[in-house]
Amino acid sequence: MNVFNITQIVENDLCIGCGLCAALCPQGVLEMRWNRHGEYNPVAIAECTTECGLCLKVCPFADHEENEDTIGKELYADVPGISHRPEAGYSLASYVGYSDKHRPTSASGGMATWLLETLLTEGIVDHVICTAPTGDPECLFSFRVFDTPEGVRTGAGSAYYPVEMSEVISHILDHPGRYAITGLPCFIKAIRLAQQRNKKLRERVVVTVGLTCGQLKSRHFTEYIAALAGVRGKVTAVRHRGKSKDQPASNFHFSFTTEDGEESRIFWKEGIAEAWVNRWFTPNACNYCDDVFAECADVTCMDAWLPGYSGDSRGSNLVLVRSPLLQDLIAEGVRRKEVNLDPIHVDKVVQSQAGVIASKRQHLAHRLYNAQKENGRVPDKRVPPKKLMNPITVSEISLKDQMQISSRMNWSLGSDSNVESFRRTLKPLIKKLNNVNQVKRTMQLPILSIRYIQRRIRSARHE
Ligand SMILES: Cc1cc2nc3c(=O)[nH]c(=O)nc-3n(C[C@H](O)[C@H](O)[C@H](O)COP(=O)(O)OP(=O)(O)OC[C@H]3O[C@@H](n4cnc5c(N)ncnc54)[C@H](O)[C@@H]3O)c2cc1C
Repeated sequence: MNVFNITQIVENDLCIGCGLCAALCPQGVLEMRWNRHGEYNPVAIAECTTECGLCLKVCPFADHEENEDTIGKELYADVPGISHRPEAGYSLASYVGYSDKHRPTSASGGMATWLLETLLTEGIVDHVICTAPTGDPECLFSFRVFDTPEGVRTGAGSAYYPVEMSEVISHILDHPGRYAITGLPCFIKAIRLAQQRNKKLRERVVVTVGLTCGQLKSRHFTEYIAALAGVRGKVTAVRHRGKSKDQPASNFHFSFTTEDGEESRIFWKEGIAEAWVNRWFTPNACNYCDDVFAECADVTCMDAWLPGYSGDSRGSNLVLVRSPLLQDLIAEGVRRKEVNLDPIHVDKVVQSQAGVIASKRQHLAHRLYNAQKENGRVPDKRVPPKKLMNPITVSEISLKDQMQISSRMNWSLGSDSNVESFRRTLKPLIKKLNNVNQVKRTMQLPILSIRYIQRRIRSARHE
């Protein structure tokens, strides 16, 4: 193996497992396989002899001249009426709302499934590629190609689980047609990088539907939550975004089905939140991501984590539109009353993801600063390395990073006591983080009071 290929990304633990490298390798020497952390990585099954470097050129975490800004600019800057915000990329229009028909089975307001289905029924695409449950305990979700709205609907919901695109991208290369594909920000970036270098992908992938993303999770995340929910036996299906009439959208639940047909569920507040917000089972590559809103996608769907919407148990979307084609489709859907959408200012969309933006901007800058100090070299990101000065935030980042490392190393399924022993390894860090959060809460009131007084003084000066 040599430095021209993807091995360096895998060895530096920067691979997100999208599979584009494996799909495009002209020699076909890469295969996507599970690594020990329950994430996908490309593995060389034969020697690479050409050193063409295509695998690196399409890798979303390799250093390139292109980034989400340059890719987004090339795709959308010339769209009449489009605007740009550094946190969100380009936006032609933004909406809040839902599709009544799709909402009950979807993650949020069902807009992603409505869009994909409508692209098919309107004849804009011939095929839709999205994730769907497999029923296979070894790989609970995968990307699939669908040609009917019924097929697309089987994919509704969020897969907080690794999925990789090598097979579906190979399928596109082998089968002419017009495709729409869903993806997280880094996956869409990989597709765009590949489209720059591959004519078939450029011509055939005609619509990209992005999902806003805070972080991915390994398969160990689902295994851990299943064990926490008391599931015994092999899980054959998981629904990551179950809704309950008596709960706000934010307190969703995971439901598990085992091969014996047993059903169990566990709510966000019963342990999912702890693992999610503390970055347990999050791939290392996510620490170096600076794209919240899938800036290279034609349209991006996300949760409406805003007052007035997040309390609605049925779920609602925010939708950020970049392509005129998608804008027309949505306008027609509103006119036909298929979707219930109101325009919303892009500032509100940005506000809805404040936590994720902090993580992918300020926290990223601090991580890059640390990495530079330790290794001298850091991945090339849109955010420059910068030391954060707030000791509380610095402690929080450091403790969560330690938990992320520990969780990735220590989880292995096998015995009933696994959850207990796993949690024991994290306990000292959880305790320290609780103390940090306690200090944060105590300091919040005086800080808010000072800010309030400063605002009053400023407005009195202007009167
Ligand atoms: C790992 C992950 C992290 C996320 N983080 C955030 C966040 O921080 N903030 C936020 O607001 N929203 C986040 N989302 C998006 C959110 O969970 C919903 O997917 C989004 O609101 C769309 O909801 P919907 O009802 O319109 O989608 P649905 O109608 O349920 O349709 C979703 C579509 O996306 C496809 N899909 C699901 N999971 C994946 C996946 N892993 N890769 C590719 N395609 C997929 C499905 O097949 C389906 O076609 C995240 C999603 C994922 C998968």
